[in-house]
Amino acid sequence: MTETNPFESLQEQLDDASEHLDVGADVLERLKQPERVLETTLSVEMDDGSIETFRAFRSQFNGDRGPYKGGIRYHPGVTRDEVKALSGWMVYKTAVVDVPYGGGKGGIVIDPSEYSAGELERITRAFAKELRPFVGEDKDIPAPDVNTGQREMNWIKDTYEKLENTTAPGVVTGKALENGGSEGRVEATGRSTMFAAREVFDYLDRDIAGATVAVQGYGNAGSVAAELIEDLGADVVAVSDSSGAVHDPDGLDTRDVKDFKRQTGSVTGYDGAAEEFGNEDLLTLDVDLLVPAALENAIDGDLAREVQADVVVEAANGPLTPTADDVLTERGVHVVPDILANAGGVTVSYFEWVQNRQRFQWTEDRVNEELEAVITDAFDAMIDAHEANDTRNLRTAAYVVAVRRVVDAYEGSGSWP
Ligand code: GLU
Repeated sequence: MTETNPFESLQEQLDDASEHLDVGADVLERLKQPERVLETTLSVEMDDGSIETFRAFRSQFNGDRGPYKGGIRYHPGVTRDEVKALSGWMVYKTAVVDVPYGGGKGGIVIDPSEYSAGELERITRAFAKELRPFVGEDKDIPAPDVNTGQREMNWIKDTYEKLENTTAPGVVTGKALENGGSEGRVEATGRSTMFAAREVFDYLDRDIAGATVAVQGYGNAGSVAAELIEDLGADVVAVSDSSGAVHDPDGLDTRDVKDFKRQTGSVTGYDGAAEEFGNEDLLTLDVDLLVPAALENAIDGDLAREVQADVVVEAANGPLTPTADDVLTERGVHVVPDILANAGGVTVSYFEWVQNRQRFQWTEDRVNEELEAVITDAFDAMIDAHEANDTRNLRTAAYVVAVRRVVDAYEGSGSWP
């Protein structure tokens, strides 16, 4: 398989949407490049006294609709182009759900499983120190992403507040509740994936109760999506992580699998499953709904030809290569794109930021109700754009909605020399 550069995937997605929009080539070009990218080397003392260096990035893609917003991932595969692509997807994600943010993303090239908690804290604080001039409640607001969570966000908030000699909980979202986090934030990405699955089944006049589901990736997004989709009456027949997949044609107990993974570190070995197989077999399983919830480019063109699900809801960012997207479109598979399906994370980040600014805590019910309204409104706007423009697929429709909002904000601001 040839490596697909996610930054080029983003640019192709914008080209597809521009066919339906009255956007000049100059404005389109502006939407395809980040405004700026910070690339830095962190030098951090390890537990044994040695110094180790780490590459780190923060891309601020577009701020036409508000402060840059997006997560920070810790992964050995992080590259400058990957961070640029992910930051661009955040622009169109915040636009399609209409929260008043631009898009950004960051990453450190690291396998966090190889470092102690103390080392990770020093690495995170070193990055936060580098980020300090660029971030702020009204400038750029980081959040969790792959392999980061409340712990890292608490460290970033604390470093920023200490250096600035202030309190500014809204400088970062995805914090622990006690540190200014929001109810419902941890579950938000999986919850919006569930809403997206429910809405697309409804749109297709199909019953999600009784549908069979496979979920690739059993981290925060995948496991919560699996649980909540099971709660709708669907049968989650297979789930996987990097260790492999577990399958039970009668449906797995998704919460039990999560407990097992929490205890053992992986889903494989789970004794409630009928059989185990590899990740690729999960992606091509004969199910009604496939939820890719791992990393970019999980499904390429060849695999897409083998996919048997007729609905795909993207919980991960960029799980289909552009060729896979073309193949699934040609084959009539309905794909609810990442920028809508997984937008629950950033939407509840926005709610967290609003609560931080107001110093007023919402209940979990309020968070979940407002999230449902945001995702269902965005879904309806995507369907309207699909039907009005006869777009080739739902992804292009979502980009039509999002790009129009970004361009309107840019053009409405007038020109600056
Ligand atoms: N990392 C998440 C995403 O890709 C959440 C970003 C945020 O909450 O700002 O959408």
